[in-house]
Amino acid sequence: MSGKERLPVTGAQGGLLRLVATGQAESRAELARLSGLAASSVSLRVEELLEARLLVEEGSGTSRGGRRPRRLRLAPSAGLLAVADLGAHHVRLGLLDLSGRPLAVEERACDITAGPETVLDWMADAFDDLLRTHAPPGVPLRGVGTGIPGPVDPASGRVVGPSRMPGWNNYPVADQLGARYDLPVLVENDANLMAVGEARSWPGSDNLMVLKAGTGIGCGVIVNGRLHRGRGAAGDISHVRVRTDSSIMCACGHPDCLEAYASGAALMAALAEVGVAVDRPADIVGLVNDAVPEATSQVRNAGRLIGEVLTVLVNFFNPDVIAVGGSLSAAEPLIAAIRAAVYERCLPLATRDLEIAAARAGQDSALLGAGALLLDAVL
Ligand SMILES: [Zn+2]
Repeated sequence: MSGKERLPVTGAQGGLLRLVATGQAESRAELARLSGLAASSVSLRVEELLEARLLVEEGSGTSRGGRRPRRLRLAPSAGLLAVADLGAHHVRLGLLDLSGRPLAVEERACDITAGPETVLDWMADAFDDLLRTHAPPGVPLRGVGTGIPGPVDPASGRVVGPSRMPGWNNYPVADQLGARYDLPVLVENDANLMAVGEARSWPGSDNLMVLKAGTGIGCGVIVNGRLHRGRGAAGDISHVRVRTDSSIMCACGHPDCLEAYASGAALMAALAEVGVAVDRPADIVGLVNDAVPEATSQVRNAGRLIGEVLTVLVNFFNPDVIAVGGSLSAAEPLIAAIRAAVYERCLPLATRDLEIAAARAGQDSALLGAGALLLDAVL
């Protein structure tokens, strides 16, 4: 099993390492330009990083056309990140290198209602399994991170007021993982992680809303290319009140929250009432594809309600992209209904170049987002 070490870098070295790790720079000249440091100072620090085997230099031989430019790369042995995306019924676990490239990803069943101690101990054991099986020899673990399907206070790493997560309210997730690993720890809302991972699939779009339609409803907001956390609950649209004919009490104690009608959990409950039983939100997509009318109509209604909430936000924020991910996003009527509501009600200037589409980054977007944010904490 690999060791656990904090990265032995100074602040300026860390900044240079991050520029290489994120692909922004691959030469000393680019590092000098992007960091604002003097060329001599960059050269000195790059030599130190090469010496410490955190960077490697590729392509240093000569070729017929003259000397090939040498390219700086993060050393594969520089370190590993262990990240998780915790859902209501399952968790995806990943081992990434420091540039965020997945070395191994697996999904396991996991019941979040077992409570934080049990789930986090189990998660750490699963990380240890992954490291034992997939970590290259001698490459140390540098950081640990997890997404949480509920609001997270960014200052304390505590879960605050989550739905369907008994025992988790105010639980110090970051402290618990930190005590086990003694490494930089990232604890972040799952939709925020998905947004960071997804944003990389939309080059040229700096302002995104990334909706996570799964058991719950979440939204991550990217402003000018960066995650907007606000006080920690930015993007949380689950308890916005919606307009409906009926009245349903939400878990938060208020009536008629979006989540009480349009979340996967709400759709499952509504389908159960009409005698259509499903075990998880992803099964609803199967029913829609099989043209089960109750499922299609529930999903379409959910899309309309989500779309109505988004109209306010689109007029206000004017995003370039609304990307819809999560286990329900594969249901075409969901996105079609969101689009219809937004295009019907929003200002023409706000929707003229707005793209509303299924998320592109795939099932690992939250893991990739966790890797990107954790790298900032590690370097
Ligand atoms: Zn509510």
